[in-house]
Amino acid sequence: MKLEEIIESKKIYIAGPCSIESEEHIFRLAKIVKESGANILRGGAYKPRTNPDSFQGLGREALDYLVAAGREYGLPVVSEIVDVRDLDYFKNVDIIQVGARSMQSFALLKELGKLDKYILLKRHMGATIDELIGASRYISERGNHKIILCERGIRSFERATRFSLDLNAVPVIKALTPYRVIVDPSHGTGDSRYVEAMTYAGIGAGADGFIIEVHENPEAALSDGMQTIKPDVLTRIIDRVDKISDILRD
Ligand code: PEP
Ligand code: MN
Repeated sequence: MKLEEIIESKKIYIAGPCSIESEEHIFRLAKIVKESGANILRGGAYKPRTNPDSFQGLGREALDYLVAAGREYGLPVVSEIVDVRDLDYFKNVDIIQVGARSMQSFALLKELGKLDKYILLKRHMGATIDELIGASRYISERGNHKIILCERGIRSFERATRFSLDLNAVPVIKALTPYRVIVDPSHGTGDSRYVEAMTYAGIGAGADGFIIEVHENPEAALSDGMQTIKPDVLTRIIDRVDKISDILRD
């Protein structure tokens, strides 16, 4: 399906590895993602890691692998930009992700506002909804209204999960903006055991889709293995999400 049709359908099912580990790896994952029924392929090339010693991503070459894998399997692709100087490398990337940590990188947002390309703007873990919407205006006020907003978990006093997926944010953002809103239950929980439940909860709250991390061997993933689900779980999630969203739209 073409990207515009996916956005229009309000069934935005983004899946893929946290980071692209090799050309062969992203092609393998693209096949898995396609077969699961997801419609957009994710993969990180530039990784903003909490610890500077952690895997930082393969950079530009990984973006080329991602684009090629997406083309092979007919999936639009999304990847995160960290540095505005890398913008040229994203020419063939269908959706540019602005990660939580960059949500208020205003110089970056302004540049993305000049593009005719979808921007996936993730809420910072310490930002209010109002601040997220403010950040989105740095993009829209320069002419780019192709914005998708993502609730990806905020920091609360709770320590049982890495972050707390703020489901209130979904209907609130939808009431305050014209944009599609998706949830990220992978980063929102930080724990693969809870991803499935929180995906359904997000869709139940009115989200137009999700972004989920998947890997055929999560224990071996170079980043975010703890929160990464296996392909069979993704297939089940998509099957059920389709049904839930159909019921809610009746
Ligand atoms: C990611 O999507 O891999 C990511 C780093 O997300 P966030 O910016 O929400 O932490
Ligand atoms: Mn990740």
